[in-house]
Amino acid sequence: MYTEIAYTESVRTTKGAINDAVLLLRGGDIVALPTETVYGLAADAFDSTAVAKIFEAKERPAFDPLIVHLPNLKWLPKVAVVPDDLREVIDALIKAFWPGPLTLVLPKTDAVPDIVTAGLPTVAVRMSDHEIFKKIITALDQPIAAPSANRFGRISPTSATAVSEELDGRIPLIVDGGACARGLESTIIRLEKARGPKPFIHILRAGPITAEDLKKFGKIVTEAHNEAVEANAPEAPGMLANHYAPTTPLRILSSPDDFRPEPGRRYALLSYRGDKKDGYLKLTDWAETLVLSPGSGKLPEAGIRFFHLLRQLDKLEDIDEIIAEPVPDRGVGAAIMERLRKAAAKSGV
Ligand code: AMP
Ligand code: MG
Repeated sequence: MYTEIAYTESVRTTKGAINDAVLLLRGGDIVALPTETVYGLAADAFDSTAVAKIFEAKERPAFDPLIVHLPNLKWLPKVAVVPDDLREVIDALIKAFWPGPLTLVLPKTDAVPDIVTAGLPTVAVRMSDHEIFKKIITALDQPIAAPSANRFGRISPTSATAVSEELDGRIPLIVDGGACARGLESTIIRLEKARGPKPFIHILRAGPITAEDLKKFGKIVTEAHNEAVEANAPEAPGMLANHYAPTTPLRILSSPDDFRPEPGRRYALLSYRGDKKDGYLKLTDWAETLVLSPGSGKLPEAGIRFFHLLRQLDKLEDIDEIIAEPVPDRGVGAAIMERLRKAAAKSGV
């Protein structure tokens, strides 16, 4: 299936890699690029054939839409319609959070190919704050479609090494920009006019920009746990329950008192802050313990390390189950918990 690209040429950091990425994108190819959230698999968003290569390399179903990254603000009206009655709040959100990890779902223009939005009338747009990504998209001077650079449903990559574990042999170039500064995918929101001056802000995916960050701009509606989402219903495209799944089964252990280890089974612990007072460290003879934010448990740090540590645990041999401590369900912790729940829903397949 991937015979056209027999191997990934290299993981590269040099200036040459930036130029090569631009040339590949211009030529209708796909490349993995660093962003501040997670690594993205990029194509020219206006080139349907190039975008199709993203779906193929990721084995992503065609109903799961992609995020479109803009080189600068002048591109916004070319890909999305900013409704008049929401313009003020959209301007304020852009001023506060762009470039950065906030994605807005807006009505799309005809310029955006249907394959990018999975046939939806809306498009998800953002601007990345990563220096290398910015250099590449500025040189390309076109919007870039870029979902996370992992195989569909798997753990998102937060380093170039993780991308090569996911996609080696399927893409011609991975541009190495180091570890991702945020480590979690962007927050995705949809705005809806409400009766008062403030709109509803529907949080479709929790992320680095938190409900607390957004609440001064509107009334927050969290949609991540609604039943349609959990059931993988088609009206919630892309918000599938079976994301971020490790191959080893994962369970969130809400209370340490509920743990009944089975003899002969090997367990690994994903700990929040590695504090014995939390009651998890001594529950069993863990085959491995990795800690999201050692010490006082800082949620942004836990977010940065989350996918990286989950990937490390998933790579261990002979582990029967990953046990995850819950983290506080607020701030960036809400984004971690959303991903943990999805990882638990469909792990081990
Ligand atoms: P990824 O970057 O791999 O997390 O994939 C992008 C995600 O953006 C998709 O899985 C969807 O959750 C979301 N998305 C993209 N376009 C839309 C849209 N038009 N409406 C709602 N969600 C979207
Ligand atoms: Mg993804």
